Amino acid sequence: MFPDEGIPMAAPDTFQSLLTGLFASPAAENPTGVMVESAYRHANLDARYVTCEVVPGALEAAVRGAVAMGWAGFHCSLPHKVAVLPLLDELAESAALIGAVNCVVIRDGRLIGENTDGKGFLTSLRRIVDPRGKHIVILGAGGAARAIAFELALAGAGGLLIANRHQERVASLVDDLRERTSVDASAAHWDGTFAVPADAEILINATSVGLFPDIEAKPDIDYGMLAQGMIVADVIPNPPRTAFVAEAEARGCTVIDGLGMLVDQAVIGIRLWTGIDADADVMRGALAEIFG
Ligand code: NDP
Repeated sequence: MFPDEGIPMAAPDTFQSLLTGLFASPAAENPTGVMVESAYRHANLDARYVTCEVVPGALEAAVRGAVAMGWAGFHCSLPHKVAVLPLLDELAESAALIGAVNCVVIRDGRLIGENTDGKGFLTSLRRIVDPRGKHIVILGAGGAARAIAFELALAGAGGLLIANRHQERVASLVDDLRERTSVDASAAHWDGTFAVPADAEILINATSVGLFPDIEAKPDIDYGMLAQGMIVADVIPNPPRTAFVAEAEARGCTVIDGLGMLVDQAVIGIRLWTGIDADADVMRGALAEIFG
């Protein structure tokens, strides 16, 4: 069924592939389809992932179309992660807490909203350390930081310090965390070079600093505070080895790159849509090829 893979053509049981995809704008630069279809091929699953440019005014029609065509589900990327909420029938626990959805599952015509961004990050982190009881510093208070902060709170983090330039954004995130979870959360106004507290055990860059093409940029923090044994994670998937990750590694920290989060959130989505456990190594390999 996949002649490009050299797999012999077999008579299929059905000519109808399972359909999944992505609704985003811009969509063309999003490599998720390559990664997800590599997992489908590896599992010999007759499924497709269609990357669709869906402008804000067309989201409702696109969602109705996916239901009408019997799709198993889809990813929602910017700018649809919050706009999709009123179109859904149900929200999973963490999506409701976070207030945003990046993955929709369609079951019996019902639309169920999930948020797999933070869960993907958590899976990636847990390969190195259990965040339970740990003191964690998050740089940034946007969508990625929000998803990560709620999952860390649900996973029993000992304390969360969240630093952001715009104070209102971080104050509102910390208020939501305190109101909806029992985590000990506090906000820091990031103005100038940020001093990471000495008791931080895990440091996460959840800002967009360092994203291609601005690959030399790194968050303005006091890198002298990074100590051996500290775990340092980045959410930036492209390039996988950011200047932030390289600096932390040079200082003896254990590092986690943004490809891990990207792959692990997609593994969760694929499981929700198809029931298979996708091969994370195959998916990471497909992305690594794209990002060089
Ligand atoms: P948002 O636009 O919601 O948030 C961006 C954050 O970065 C804000 O906190 C913003 O601060 C901060 N920021 C931007 N520039 C600077 C700067 N120069 N100095 C300090 N802080 C800065 O974006 P998202 O949260 O949705 O995405 C953030 C990054 O996460 C993106 O690069 C995206 O690629 C990545 N991502 C990775 C995923 C993965 O699977 N690996 C999944 C989702 C996202 P302020 O509020 O003050 O402007």
